[in-house]
Amino acid sequence: MTPEPGAAVLACSAGCAGGFPVFEAIYACPRCGALLDVRHDPAALGRRSGAEWRALFDSRGPASAWPLASGVWGKREWVLPGLPDGDVVSLGEGWTSLVPAPRAGAALGHERLRVKQCGTSHSGSFKDLGMTVLVSAVRHRRRERGGPAAIACASTGDTSAALAAYCAAAGIPCAVLLPRGLVSPAQLVQPLAHGARVLSLSTDFDGCMGIVKALAAEGTVYLANSMNPLRLEGQKTVAVELAQQLSWTVPDWVFLPGGNLGNTAALCAGFTLARDLGLIDRLPRICVAQSAAASPLYESFRRGFSSLTPVAAGPTAATAIRIGDPVSAPRALRALRACDGRVEEVGERALAEAARLCARAGLYPCPQTAVALAALRQAAAVGAVLPDEEVVVLATAHGLKFTEFELAVARGSLPGAQEDVENVPIELPAELAAVRAAIHEGAG
Ligand SMILES: *Cc1c(COP(=O)(O)O)cnc(C)c1O
Ligand SMILES: [Zn+2]
Repeated sequence: MTPEPGAAVLACSAGCAGGFPVFEAIYACPRCGALLDVRHDPAALGRRSGAEWRALFDSRGPASAWPLASGVWGKREWVLPGLPDGDVVSLGEGWTSLVPAPRAGAALGHERLRVKQCGTSHSGSFKDLGMTVLVSAVRHRRRERGGPAAIACASTGDTSAALAAYCAAAGIPCAVLLPRGLVSPAQLVQPLAHGARVLSLSTDFDGCMGIVKALAAEGTVYLANSMNPLRLEGQKTVAVELAQQLSWTVPDWVFLPGGNLGNTAALCAGFTLARDLGLIDRLPRICVAQSAAASPLYESFRRGFSSLTPVAAGPTAATAIRIGDPVSAPRALRALRACDGRVEEVGERALAEAARLCARAGLYPCPQTAVALAALRQAAAVGAVLPDEEVVVLATAHGLKFTEFELAVARGSLPGAQEDVENVPIELPAELAAVRAAIHEGAG
């Protein structure tokens, strides 16, 4: 299959080869082994001015005809140009709210805070943005040429939930490899409910990743991890949507939790493309938040993002970013150098405290989002983020996926929590006087 003129292609991220069709099942450069990127045709994209792109994107929204109503497919020219409508597998991803959160911000020491609620999505995490693109591409290829027989991923919980949902919507078989005991019960239920083959392995995420990469290399499955650049094409739309929600401006900072670092690379790619095509006039700075139990990027930041040394990831409440050997590290290092990036590492006590402060201010952060919120608190405290700077935190998943964590936050039973913050149900007889008394009891 030769790519059509104007189509996006796969190219070596180190620049030594390119022009591979995006529907080909290859995940690394056949010459040098580097990661692949999706390259768009600059001539095709350059035919519209920045103002024309803004007008086009502004003319599409949740009320548009399907599939343009999707936040991802409303930007389809930048994602997978030319994919026929009939191959699009959409569950209504994107168009997540950008919520001012001054009360949570004040509690963290930085009032100029907005939260982009990427977890308010079909499967409850931002992974939907990338999975709609990957599964649509596979559906197209299966219709045109047959195969691949199944899609598979290794997952810390959210990738597998999204993959299983989109595969079920498309009628494509899928298998998910999960580290046993390291995903939340809600995340385990999702692929089971969608009929995926769920393989629970006695290893951690990095161990699952090694196996699924080998399965993909031998051609047994098509690989759905973010090493596959098709996912990043969908995820990068979050940057464009964010700028659009701010009337085509960018905040001073975007904070996000980072694990495999695909989302970091995607976010920066989205802002860079929007700037290069004239939709915005600058890039925001990006701060990646890592759990101190799995923070190879933090060490890299301290060495000027020159390289990244994998670590063994230890236990953390932020299970979705418990990754010691991030697959997209080379992409992320390049992105962070371009965006004047920063990295914070956050301890268990700090993430629990940020989660509690923000939940008491109306947010419902998942543990990973709590790491990003804690990172903002730390960066503001040392003056790395200045009081008049506008900050957006990407909330990556919905707190409802992590009920055990939220319960521990409410009970004050996470490491380092204070006893006096405990909030538990008060058991009472069904009597008016007792209920009336209990409502104001202890309230200062
Ligand atoms: C996947 C995930 C992340 C990390 O994204 P990467 O692209 O792996 O860095 C962060 N938070 C949540 C909730 C996730 O599911
Ligand atoms: Zn190469």
